[in-house]
Amino acid sequence: MASPARHCAKPTCENLAAATLSYQYETATVWVEHLHHDDHPMIHDLCLRHADSMVVPLGWDLQDMRESAPGALPKAS
Ligand SMILES: [Zn+2]
Repeated sequence: MASPARHCAKPTCENLAAATLSYQYETATVWVEHLHHDDHPMIHDLCLRHADSMVVPLGWDLQDMRESAPGALPKAS
């Protein structure tokens, strides 16, 4: 069964979700990752435009997990 298309969490945005935003209050960290397949109450879907323009509050740390270094990718055997 195909899951319904997911859209950006921004109220005024109708773009399809392209990234997943998650955050942890304890460590004041925000993560932007490739779109998760599972819907989860602690994560938010964002389109590429809003994910790329993501700004975190002062004192928070933004970790963009989509930008992995080319050399760090696991090699296919
Ligand atoms: Zn958007």
